[in-house]
Amino acid sequence: MNWKDALSQIDFQQHTRLRFQEPLAKHTHFGIGGEATAYIEVSTIDDLAILAQFHREWKVPVAVIGKGSNLLVSDKGFNGLCIRLIGELANLDVDGTIVTVGAGQSLPGLSKLMSKNGLSGVEFALGIPGSVGGALIMNAGAWGSSFGDVVTDVTVMQDTGELLTLTHDEAQFEYRHSGLEAYFCVITATLKLQPGDVDEITSKMNTLFKQKIETQPFVEENAGCMFKNPPDDSAGRLIDISGLKGHRIGGAEVSTIHGNFILNLDNATANDVLDLVAYIQKHVKEKTGISLQTEVKRLGFG
Ligand SMILES: Cc1cc2nc3c(=O)[nH]c(=O)nc-3n(C[C@H](O)[C@H](O)[C@H](O)COP(=O)(O)OP(=O)(O)OC[C@H]3O[C@@H](n4cnc5c(N)ncnc54)[C@H](O)[C@@H]3O)c2cc1C
Repeated sequence: MNWKDALSQIDFQQHTRLRFQEPLAKHTHFGIGGEATAYIEVSTIDDLAILAQFHREWKVPVAVIGKGSNLLVSDKGFNGLCIRLIGELANLDVDGTIVTVGAGQSLPGLSKLMSKNGLSGVEFALGIPGSVGGALIMNAGAWGSSFGDVVTDVTVMQDTGELLTLTHDEAQFEYRHSGLEAYFCVITATLKLQPGDVDEITSKMNTLFKQKIETQPFVEENAGCMFKNPPDDSAGRLIDISGLKGHRIGGAEVSTIHGNFILNLDNATANDVLDLVAYIQKHVKEKTGISLQTEVKRLGFG
C-alpha cells in the first residue's frame, strides 16, 4: 500500500477534510504554485497527533501552512502532505488579560476581537493577513511591534504527537524569525495583553491599518515584504534607490507603491518571482553593497 492509500483509510473526525492533488495557488496570497499531493484541513488535536505519527511512520514530507500569506509555492507543487489548522485548532479563549489562541485563528480576526474586549497589544496585526501560527513562526510585526512581544508561552506538537509547552524565551523570537520551526506544528499561544479603553484601542488599530493600506499594495496578489530589512535600513528604500520599482519579469513586478513587495500581476510563475528576487538582490548589492535576505518562505523547491 502506498502512503496516499494509507492516509485515505484513516478514520478522521467529522470536520477534518482530506483532498488529493489540491492546487496550492488558491491557498496562498500570491496565487502561485502547483498542487499538493495531499491536503488536509485538520480540526482536532487528536487528528493532528495521528498525522504526526503518520508522518514518522511513512516518512512523508509534511508542511503546515497558515493563511499562505508569506509563502511562495513551487510551480511543481509540493510532493507531500500539506496541513492546515481549523476548528478547535483555531479556538480563542479570553480570561481577563490572558488570551489563549489556536494557531489556526486569523491574525486580523484576533486583532478585531481583542479591540472589542478592550485588550491592547495586537492593534498592529489587523493589516497582517496571516494566521496566529504563521505569526509565531515568522514573529510577524509592524510599526515597531512584533507578535512575540505579547506571547508568554507557546504549545507545539512534536512529531511523536506529544505536546510541549515552551516559554517566551524558549520560543526564541527574533526579527521575522523564531525557533518554532524546529517542531512538527505550532498549536496555541498564550498572550498577555494590556487592559485599555475599547474606543482608543479600536481607533489605534484602524489608524495603523489605514496607514498600511495607504503605503503598501493591498489589491494585487503578493506575499507581503519579500526581503527582511537589513539592520538600521529598509529593504524597500534600497530597492527604490536601485531604480527597481516597476521592474518586471514575466508576470511578476516590483510594486511601484512599495519596492519590497513583488506582485503577481499577470499569471506569474514561481520561477518569475525567483528570477525577479535574484535580479533585485544582484542590483541592490551592486548599487549599495548590501545583500538582501528573503523573508518569504518557499515550499516545494526540493
Ligand atoms: C498584503 C500583506 C501584508 C503583509 N504585511 C505584513 C506585515 O506588516 N508584517 C509582517 O510581519 N508580515 C506581513 N505579511 C506577511 C505575512 O502575513 C506574515 O508573515 C504572517 O505571519 C504569515 O502567516 P500565515 O499564516 O499566512 O503563514 P504562511 O504563509 O501560511 O506560512 C509561513 C510559514 O509559517 C509556517 N507555519 C504556518 N503555520 C504554522 C503552524 N501552525 N505550525 C508550524 N508552522 C506553521 C509555514 O510552514 C511557513 O513556513 C504580509 C503579507 C501580505 C500578503
